[in-house]
Amino acid sequence: MRHIDIADRLPSRASRTALVTGGAGFLGSHLCEALLKKKYNVICLDNFFTGDRSNVEGLLHGGKFEIVRHDVTVPIQIEANEIYNLACPASPLHYQASPVETTKTSVLGAINMLDLARRLGVRILQASTSEVYGDPAEHPQRESYWGNVNPIGSRACYDEGKRCAETLFFDYHRAHGVPIKVARIFNTYGPRMHPNDGRVVSTFIVQALTGQDLTIFGDGSQTRSLCYVDDLIRGLVSLMEADGGVTGPVNLGNPEEVSMIELAELVLSLTGSRSHIVRRPPAADDPRQRRPDISLADEVLDWRPTVPVKIGLGRTIDYFDALLSHRAPAVFP
Ligand code: NAD
Ligand code: UDP
Repeated sequence: MRHIDIADRLPSRASRTALVTGGAGFLGSHLCEALLKKKYNVICLDNFFTGDRSNVEGLLHGGKFEIVRHDVTVPIQIEANEIYNLACPASPLHYQASPVETTKTSVLGAINMLDLARRLGVRILQASTSEVYGDPAEHPQRESYWGNVNPIGSRACYDEGKRCAETLFFDYHRAHGVPIKVARIFNTYGPRMHPNDGRVVSTFIVQALTGQDLTIFGDGSQTRSLCYVDDLIRGLVSLMEADGGVTGPVNLGNPEEVSMIELAELVLSLTGSRSHIVRRPPAADDPRQRRPDISLADEVLDWRPTVPVKIGLGRTIDYFDALLSHRAPAVFP
């Protein structure tokens, strides 16, 4: 196999440029910030579908950060030494509202960014997802599990789009020697989540802080494993920096698993809110359980999460509290 990996022949990190697609979103904005701290030049490419310029504007002052408004479904020529491909709506509310655009973003976005990586001869990392496991029959989920996805359901635009993107990554790697990194990200939360994006952590916190009922979909026994954003970003950067032979897929997530009813109760206790918990109809094709087996990340990246859920939720509550009280949250300390 022809293997292109000129990463080690490129300039020192001080003058290296990272391209982050979806850089104005929740995870992307934290990644841009982390890379700037590591002395990279950073180009944030985003069409602002679910992200916002305000998430990254504070990074412009240092002169090493650029924002490019562009849709990844359209090819682009741009110079960079490594590419993080994060562009894609991640909240079920958002991607189900624009299902065709979501599949196109994952599939055409992967093709366009892989073509760019191939032309430039640089590493490219794909933000894949635990959703490739669907409603998993194996628990916890290891990377060897092939998943259980309904290909025609309302989540399929996201799940199958991401599965197809993984296929494209491995085919570009095998056929063209493109150096790839695939991270399967499990539910991640933290400051700069959109307050109205419908994801469970932001929704419960906003509901608790504003005295609204906390809405549990179904009976609340379904589980998720929640990773604090700083841990996740450290994992993504470690994967990009890992030896070229480490392609993944690698699970990145916090194995601390909670049911949605436990999460609602935890949010109520941490906020001191008097809101009530109410039941709503179950979401279609909602996975019953989700927890990563992270032994591979531990072994090949020496990575494991360090922020317990209670601590991470506390920081996220502080962020939303400041946001909702119109105090500027300290997102760019
Ligand atoms: P987000 O919605 O906050 O960010 C996605 C970003 O991509 C936004 O800034 C959006 O404007 C941009 N985008 C969407 N379509 C685009 C397009 N066609 N062209 C250019 N930009 C586009 O979501 P997030 O939570 O930050 O997720 C980032 C990535 O991580 C996504 O690929 C998502 O699938 C993946 N991921 C996230 C989680 C999580 O829990 N946050 C879990 C698994 C995977
Ligand atoms: N959920 C809920 N109430 C809400 C929002 C979500 O009970 O107001 C549930 C949802 O049904 C799912 C879990 O919380 O079981 C996580 O949902 P989220 O949208 O955050 O992420 P995903 O389903 O993609 O893991």
